[in-house]
Amino acid sequence: MEVKVLGAAREVGRSAILIKGKKTNIVLDYGIRTGREPAFPINVQPKDIDGVLITHAHLDHSGSTPMLYLSEGVDSYMTGVTADLSALLIQDLIGISGFYLPFEETELRAMLKRVKRLSLGDEIQIGEFKIKFHGAGHLPGATSLVIDDGTSRVMYTGDIDINHTTLLNGADTDYGDLDLVISESTYSQNEHPKRTDVEEDFVEFATQIVEDGGKLLVPAFASGRAQEIACVLEKAGFRHPVAMDGLALKVNDVLMSNQEFLKDPNLFTESIENCEAVRGWNQRRNVTKHPGVIIAPAGMMAGGSVLFYNEHLALDSANAISLVAYQVPGTPGRALIDKGLVMIRGTKVNVKAKVKRFDFSGHTGRDGLFELFGRFKGNPKVLAIHGDEENCVKFSEEIKTKFGFDAVAPKAGESFVVK
Ligand SMILES: [Zn+2]
Repeated sequence: MEVKVLGAAREVGRSAILIKGKKTNIVLDYGIRTGREPAFPINVQPKDIDGVLITHAHLDHSGSTPMLYLSEGVDSYMTGVTADLSALLIQDLIGISGFYLPFEETELRAMLKRVKRLSLGDEIQIGEFKIKFHGAGHLPGATSLVIDDGTSRVMYTGDIDINHTTLLNGADTDYGDLDLVISESTYSQNEHPKRTDVEEDFVEFATQIVEDGGKLLVPAFASGRAQEIACVLEKAGFRHPVAMDGLALKVNDVLMSNQEFLKDPNLFTESIENCEAVRGWNQRRNVTKHPGVIIAPAGMMAGGSVLFYNEHLALDSANAISLVAYQVPGTPGRALIDKGLVMIRGTKVNVKAKVKRFDFSGHTGRDGLFELFGRFKGNPKVLAIHGDEENCVKFSEEIKTKFGFDAVAPKAGESFVVK
């Protein structure tokens, strides 16, 4: 087996791995790097591969896949909810992207026609490869993949969280013996606070703001994070108004029909039923008039319905804005944290609402990654990807020292032979 890194090498974004066997070639993830200018993985031709396997719906893992359908296309394999969520996210990308994308809805539809919908724990055969889809936490339907050609076994983490959250079960890490591991390194140099503490602090903060007569705006990613925030409030018995807006509502519908991917479907259903779904401008204006929590995408405040709420709420000191995701440098959310600035009708002004960050990450942190590596059987070679350059390089050095595994931070285009 040969493994070629096509993207996410010393960067976060455009994840893609080519696995070449004796007779069969497959691609694991085919993502896009979004931001100012979209960037794509190293090109592969659909005629040269026998399948594309998508670990989860986030665009940095799924967003370039329609490029494989410009001509003949190829079979794609992913969990059912990954298929539904990536359709939503890619459609949104096509709709909002002001940049040139080398594909349109036609290619997205062609991709969806060739999807084989799987469940967590399923095992499939493509040519000489036996491939198992392990639950990976992180996002509903997210998987890690184990590829077995009968001689050697390769594991690709995708994005992984080994801990349970309110929305999802932690990763299934029973991989068996491994010869090569391709691991994400997103938070290899950072530790997250204990999740239960973060949840408690968040509910306490939300309660205080609302009981003092304010509104709490929660910019949140439409898929996963928005629903998790609603579930955290529901679980804590929060009985003040909660509203949700934008693309998150479509994600709610997808998750309602894919409940087997959630840890507690009843809690999810109750949290959505107790949430006001905001579907128009009158309703949008109304929810800003009474105390309550408003959950609105986008998570980094770079677009979406959160912009409307920000304009209405950010200049009143009774209100608050809670950022519940990592804020990429250069985004409006990051400017809010670092400089206390918000954009109101095209002008940067000082925020008056309280601003507080809560670390609800969907990725395992530093200790969790080391715990994961401690569970590996065999003596695998390790490729550290999906982190910025320093994270990938330092992490690979630490793995060598701590576990004795041969670890590297590969560059895009590098290939590795397994056995
Ligand atoms: Zn992800």
